[in-house]
Amino acid sequence: MKILFVASEALPFIKVGGLGDVAGALPKALVKKGHDARVVLPYYSSIKQEMKEKCSYIKYFYFYLGWRNCYCGIFEAEVDGVTYYLIDNEYYFRRAAPYGEFDDAERFAFFSKAALEILPQVGFFPDVIHANDWHTALLPVYLDTQFRWREGFEYVKTVFSIHNIEFQGKYGMEILGPVLGISNDCRNMLEMDDCLNMMKGAIERANAVTTVSRSYANEIMDPYFSFGLDPILSARRWKLSGIVNGIDMDTFNPETDPHIPHNYSAKKLKGKALDRKALQEELGLPVRDVPLVGMVGRLTDQKGLTLFYPIMEELMREDIQMVVLGTGYHDLENFMRFCDAAYHDKFRAMITFSASMAQKIYAASDIFLMPSKSEPCGLAQMIAMRYGSIPVVHSVGGLRDTVIPFNHMDGTGNGVTFQSFNAGDLLGAVKRAIAIWWEPDQRKKIVHNGMTGNYSWDVSADEYIRIYESL
Ligand code: ADP
Repeated sequence: MKILFVASEALPFIKVGGLGDVAGALPKALVKKGHDARVVLPYYSSIKQEMKEKCSYIKYFYFYLGWRNCYCGIFEAEVDGVTYYLIDNEYYFRRAAPYGEFDDAERFAFFSKAALEILPQVGFFPDVIHANDWHTALLPVYLDTQFRWREGFEYVKTVFSIHNIEFQGKYGMEILGPVLGISNDCRNMLEMDDCLNMMKGAIERANAVTTVSRSYANEIMDPYFSFGLDPILSARRWKLSGIVNGIDMDTFNPETDPHIPHNYSAKKLKGKALDRKALQEELGLPVRDVPLVGMVGRLTDQKGLTLFYPIMEELMREDIQMVVLGTGYHDLENFMRFCDAAYHDKFRAMITFSASMAQKIYAASDIFLMPSKSEPCGLAQMIAMRYGSIPVVHSVGGLRDTVIPFNHMDGTGNGVTFQSFNAGDLLGAVKRAIAIWWEPDQRKKIVHNGMTGNYSWDVSADEYIRIYESL
């Protein structure tokens, strides 16, 4: 099949969040399975020079976005068998960062339309176009309202994936014509609660809608999780499905990871204890054989970190050490700094972004905390399990689909979960994980189950192919 993957970020070119991982890994997995999967993304000025050097200039042309006649350059690159088309327009993409500009609506409307306009230019008409998140949510709308009668576009099907429902591309209705270049006749597709909502448009127009785990697909039909989109999704549940993300099993491999001082595997675990010792030394923690509790991630409410406010004191009475790496909301960052100062003999907070420190924590930690309030999929818990760290998670969304509670009786399961989002339950779950860690037989089983789990893209790619083929 011919598949065009359209995303606002994709590894190895640019990554801001989980979308970058998915848009990097899924097309690669599809190509491995013999499909012709190509990717379109913006040619941001913030793409690293070494990746820019892999891109060759193809051509340029102009197209209309509303009344604006826009320049559109096309660069092409091939990485790991995947062809990438990068859309060049310095007015829109020569910015300090990919997102967060005053004119994001116009920038990504341009990008969504450009992804369609380039197809006749490069001579590639896919069977399916796969758009992702609000940035490319206008693509199915443009396709149905402005392209269907053009040669090559008649039968193209669309899939729209929701990676984060919180950001929907909501603007005032007044930008419909002047900025997006969409006729007033089509306002029904995009209008919701007197606003223009791009994600709503994609949910209406795409032939299939997916999200990044099965549980999350159910949850977003509930107002608690949906940020207002539940009536739209419930009415179209027949085309909604959930496919859990994978992780790159080569990058996240404790046997070969260059970031960690001692490599190890499920069979030869000795290196893991040495990694803990190395991290304790690096961070100036006492070198002791006690469970090291790790946490890596954005310090935001969504990640459930406010649950720690009432329980941190009691948690710190346990004979454990705790290491936190992340950036995010100031109050949560300051709380972590406070804990670092108040419990300095056992707590370290690193308020920064560091991919190599993250790997060291995954490898060194015995227990990994992810008490997210909501979690579309979550990658960190899968990485933690692959590195032999016992995940303690709130049983929600992708966490629920990937972390199976450990069963003391038959030794199945790979983590510890708690059901309702409250601090006492989190504390109880952490204590259960600590108890498992102190029981050598149980620890061995749970760590083995986690480390030998299959988190690869292989299975998920098959599920996407099934959807593409059904269309
Ligand atoms: P989300 O996409 O909601 O942020 P995920 O668990 O899906 O959460 O993915 C987060 C990824 O980003 C993980 O690979 C995690 O290791 C990484 N990460 C998050 N914060 C940091 C940080 N401060 N330093 C290094 N890596 C981080």
